[in-house]
Amino acid sequence: MRKVSRAIRLKRLSDLRGIRASGLVSAGVLRMMEEWIRPGVSTAELDRLAEDYIRSHGGVPAFKGYRGFPATICSSVNEEIIHAIPSGRRVLREGDVITIDVGTVLNGYFSDTARTYFVGEGEPPEEVGRLLEGTESALWAGIRRMRTGGRLGEVSAAIEEELARFGLTVIRELTGHGVGFELHEPAPVVYNFGSPDEGPVLEDGLVIAIEPMASLGSGDIIPCSDGWTYKTRDGSLSAHFEHTVGLWQGEPVVLTDPDWEVGWSQDY
Ligand code: MG
Repeated sequence: MRKVSRAIRLKRLSDLRGIRASGLVSAGVLRMMEEWIRPGVSTAELDRLAEDYIRSHGGVPAFKGYRGFPATICSSVNEEIIHAIPSGRRVLREGDVITIDVGTVLNGYFSDTARTYFVGEGEPPEEVGRLLEGTESALWAGIRRMRTGGRLGEVSAAIEEELARFGLTVIRELTGHGVGFELHEPAPVVYNFGSPDEGPVLEDGLVIAIEPMASLGSGDIIPCSDGWTYKTRDGSLSAHFEHTVGLWQGEPVVLTDPDWEVGWSQDY
């Protein structure tokens, strides 16, 4: 039997630069979606816009064809958590929430990022606002705990703690992952819950997708008959925020955040 390697594949600075370039294209898709997500638009239209954006920036959609996935984005609405396939029949309505998850391959480097949007004018209802704000805040709580010499469990524990602070339920069966040379690298698995003294010790050159998923109800999930979508068993709303994050010179570098100032210079 062939032994499958579970070792973390560390990246060099040149790789981090490549993943950053890829990450900016993925991030550009999410930023563009702010203009297009509104009542009346179909998820297939959003998918076409995303694919055009990535290709016009020299990239290739990383999800399209991945294990047979047919589209550029995953567009998961309301109780759908992840991996929903865009469709011309899925038209957004006022008050929906939609998660756009997107990945790019650029010059062989993979990036992966996601966020959940409220559909419609004005402020979302209180609990929807809490779901979105809390899940995004949990992502950043995890990112802030990344440090060279620390443990991955510190990141996981920080995410769990922050979700609890907002009264949200962790979707425990879905996790983050290593990324960069591939869309999903076998190691490490990035849990959204756990103890700070667990998990691998983090080293410079680590690149992971951190992606808390949470719901307003229970954390139980069910797979849908399309073979891709996961949704909450109780039909409650869910949210998902994700960044591709590297570790360099002891500090996290948020490779899919265009506003993040990367700390490296030509001198390294
Ligand atoms: Mg991911």
